[in-house]
Amino acid sequence: MTLPTAATRLIALLGDPVSHSLSPQFQNAAFRETHVDGIYLALRCDAPAFAHLMKGIAAAGGAGNVTLPHKALAAEILDVATPAVAKTGACNTFWAEDDRVCGDNTDVSAFHGAVSASVGDPASARVLLLGAGGAASAALCALLQDNAETVLLLNRTPERAHALRSRLDPDGSRVQVIAHQHDLRTENFDLVVNASALGLRPDDPLPLDLDHIGGTAAVLDVVYTPQQTPWVKHAHELGIPAADGIEMLLRQGAASFERWWGRAAPLEVMRRSLVDVG
Ligand code: NAP
Repeated sequence: MTLPTAATRLIALLGDPVSHSLSPQFQNAAFRETHVDGIYLALRCDAPAFAHLMKGIAAAGGAGNVTLPHKALAAEILDVATPAVAKTGACNTFWAEDDRVCGDNTDVSAFHGAVSASVGDPASARVLLLGAGGAASAALCALLQDNAETVLLLNRTPERAHALRSRLDPDGSRVQVIAHQHDLRTENFDLVVNASALGLRPDDPLPLDLDHIGGTAAVLDVVYTPQQTPWVKHAHELGIPAADGIEMLLRQGAASFERWWGRAAPLEVMRRSLVDVG
């Protein structure tokens, strides 16, 4: 690997926590493959430090990613936001252009890519979406853009699901909020997505027992863990095709790479860099 020089760009992941992140692994593999002069580091920071770091790194010609809990704050700091940021109110990628801080939410296109690659085109699909945080917001934005017919939202805190529906489907014509899991006993879905945080910790319950709903053609878990997530395992045991969040993670990283470097990302190299994780 070429050692950093005074010309090397700092590309930083800003969030808290960041120590579990796989982004340094696959981004530095991509930088090496494409010979771009950059180094990707993860920096843990609280909100006040975050704002200074994001603006400072951009002003110094660097760029980066943003993760929990700073994606909404990042969206507010931007001088120039893409439509994905404007729609979701979240930014996970930033860079500088003409002294202005620009940002995108590449989770939206990454969710689209992951669904298409793993379970197929969601156009006309009836979808159940679990969660109402940042990942759910990106997933819902992508599903509506991809012409999913109906999306049912189920979240621990129903008020957050109502707020998400109001933001992305103001007339409520395509998104419905479900208050309880038992309302789903006779419902059939083309796709069920877990965009809640459940599944990250070993002692988490399943986000949803798939036996307790009418029927499911396919499952996508945006959560990823070193081994198969428990919910993907549960789906496979029921004979339901299922994929975890690794594909979405890689695709959001590839889209970020393209914003920073203005060239195509080596997606397969990034994917191969994670083989030791599985
Ligand atoms: P977030 O904004 O904090 O939202 C967390 C969501 O999980 C909320 O809907 C929350 O419900 C729900 N939740 C948390 N604890 C729960 C519990 N004990 N029982 C039921 N629901 C619970 O987080 P996020 O950014 O959306 O991230 C969610 C997950 O997606 C994380 O595991 C993250 O790693 C993953 N993710 C993956 C990718 C990828 O590229 N694959 C990208 C982004 C995020 P309440 O509203 O009731 O609190």
